[in-house]
Amino acid sequence: MRRKTKMIHGGLVGDPQTGAVSTPIYQVSTYKQDGIGNHKGFEYSRTGNPTRHALEELIKDLEEGTAGFAFGSGMAAITAVMMLFNSGDHVILTDDVYGGTYRVMTKVLNRLGIDSTFVDTSNLATIESEIRENTRAIFIETPTNPLLKITDIEGAAKIAKEHNLLTIVDNTFSTPYWQTPLTLGADIVLHSATKYIGGHSDVVAGLVVVNSKELARDLHFVQNSTGGVLGPQDSWLLIRGIRTLGIRMEEHEQNTAKIVNFLSAHPAVKKVYYPGLESHPNHDIAKKQASGFGGMVSFDVGSAEKAEKLLTSVKYFTLAESLGAVESLISLPAKMTHASIPTERRAELGITDGLVRISVGVEDAEDLIEDLAQALK
Ligand SMILES: *Cc1c(COP(=O)(O)O)cnc(C)c1O
Repeated sequence: MRRKTKMIHGGLVGDPQTGAVSTPIYQVSTYKQDGIGNHKGFEYSRTGNPTRHALEELIKDLEEGTAGFAFGSGMAAITAVMMLFNSGDHVILTDDVYGGTYRVMTKVLNRLGIDSTFVDTSNLATIESEIRENTRAIFIETPTNPLLKITDIEGAAKIAKEHNLLTIVDNTFSTPYWQTPLTLGADIVLHSATKYIGGHSDVVAGLVVVNSKELARDLHFVQNSTGGVLGPQDSWLLIRGIRTLGIRMEEHEQNTAKIVNFLSAHPAVKKVYYPGLESHPNHDIAKKQASGFGGMVSFDVGSAEKAEKLLTSVKYFTLAESLGAVESLISLPAKMTHASIPTERRAELGITDGLVRISVGVEDAEDLIEDLAQALK
């Protein structure tokens, strides 16, 4: 099955009992048993729900893994994955990881004894130098947010295997349409499905896919024990979103290429961050491991005043956090998505006050470019 076909025909399609072509929303908490323990595969909806199950089967197929899991948010998914570890364990993470991931590791999971180190994983040698006796996993986000740094997934997974560590990849920016980390050697891939997978700014959700029966058993145990599951209505919305993921990603990609060309040539733009640019330091790796570069672009306009003027002058780019939806969004990472990262740390990472991030939607590229042109003026 090719990629767009898989979006439509992957997982469990429709309802065999009625012939309904979309999976019904099973708005139900419990299931009748014909005798004690004698049920049709579902007992209680925290443990399993047919609509959520259809979504979990679909994401499993898209990421080419062993089992899929749906959670109430991307952060619930990340937290559940971290619950695979024990007090005293250590995890290495990408330095400009999503702000919420940084926060949960350094303000919540640290209290439970899970230790973390943040390194520039785009440089494989720095990963290896941070491995300790108690290190259990390497957590990679690629491309990153908002600097669009790229980590070599295959290279990192190789280092992880040599040291008996798990490789975990946050694949939110690429989606399985462009990048399938499990096929590159990763053990666990996860998503904020709130972004491209949902695609319409109308649901908050998280997805995880694992590559082994053991990890599937352990993560299902955590999911059922801690209970951060996705409800049936939101599971259905994600299934619907995934049906058009392929065509949306193609459109995001084409629009983004045009906008990147425009921004790169604009005198008011100091620097453009996009893995599709040949000048991007890891452009070759991006090209090797993903079949598209995605719809996220960051660019520096030099100062906070200029950035704020731009943000309030655009009309098709909505000033909002989040990304990956049909409508174009614009944000100022230093004051919005990355505000939970301390100022000194932001400076270290290069997230300047003049850095603007856009999530390119699926409007006409010409309208988006005209809008940016008038706002930059
Ligand atoms: C948004 C996001 C998250 C968190 O997901 P939520 O659905 O907001 O909880 C994690 N990782 C990345 C890369 C994100 O963009």
